[in-house]
Amino acid sequence: MTAVTVRVPAKVNVQLAVGGRRPDGFHDLANVFLAVGLFDRVTATAADELTITGEGRDIAAVPLDGSNLAAKAAVALAKLHGIEPRVRLHIEKDIPVAGGMAGGSADAAGALLACDTLWGLGSSREELLSLCAELGSDVPFSLVGGAALGVGRGELLTPLEVGGTFPWVFVAATGGLSTPAVYRECDRLRREEGAGDTIADIPAPVADPALLAALRGGSPAALAAVLTNDLQPAALSLRPDLAATLAAGTAAGALAALVSGSGPTCAFLAEDTDAATRIAVALGPAARVATAPAPGAVVLR
Ligand code: ATP
Repeated sequence: MTAVTVRVPAKVNVQLAVGGRRPDGFHDLANVFLAVGLFDRVTATAADELTITGEGRDIAAVPLDGSNLAAKAAVALAKLHGIEPRVRLHIEKDIPVAGGMAGGSADAAGALLACDTLWGLGSSREELLSLCAELGSDVPFSLVGGAALGVGRGELLTPLEVGGTFPWVFVAATGGLSTPAVYRECDRLRREEGAGDTIADIPAPVADPALLAALRGGSPAALAAVLTNDLQPAALSLRPDLAATLAAGTAAGALAALVSGSGPTCAFLAEDTDAATRIAVALGPAARVATAPAPGAVVLR
């Protein structure tokens, strides 16, 4: 085999409950991930040494060097198996960069699966998931897709049942938001409100039973009623312009509007695919329709 292409989905958080800041600086999360049908592709081709190239939306904002999460994934996999990372990685980007949709994490999961297949390593699911967790909190979910509850930093996953299809519209904002900056702003706002920002101050985050039931039930209207994102006030504080985008989606008929993860992408849940198309048209050329749940990383060829 000389080349392997893997397709990997973006995610939206249908619940993002953020606990207090831990002594290690991370936050405990109850993070309900839903994979959505916006995909990057990662192609691994046999080569003499590790190189990385890319094309597609926002590619100018993606570092095409050893700091790329896909390159880090290839290096970590090769190290685990005691081999050299002899591969050319090519990323076809369609997931917004720094948009709160786990695009970098998707590429890392895609590169792991593509390299594992190219190099014929046959790593177990457990080995791949543990490498994913080392690479980043959202990477394990990019590998498995569907819907899952992530606890800890978000990397400890339990798959969730989904009883239907959820049509979404996503509007990527120009300029990204740094995820660590959004967490810092969340802490700052909590201190400003007098709530404190440590694990001693903030109740431990838990998954909302009503939200898990809504996912199982498969009704967009029921899910829309229980969507939450504890990072949304921080994202809006850093990017006040997002409020107008959220309001425009609601005015265009969305059942619910929220910031995706740490933002700045805005996510709109629609009643059905026709409604999603109408909302996307109203929101303009930056809007994209995508249905959920989508499968995780899959080898295409
Ligand atoms: P999350 O939702 O997991 O918090 P995000 O979607 O907000 O992440 P990413 O698209 O993963 O953000 O990008 C965050 C930063 O990571 C980018 O600004 C970029 O510099 C860097 N990065 C490294 N590798 C990649 C990659 N393969 N694709 C995109 N960004 C990458």
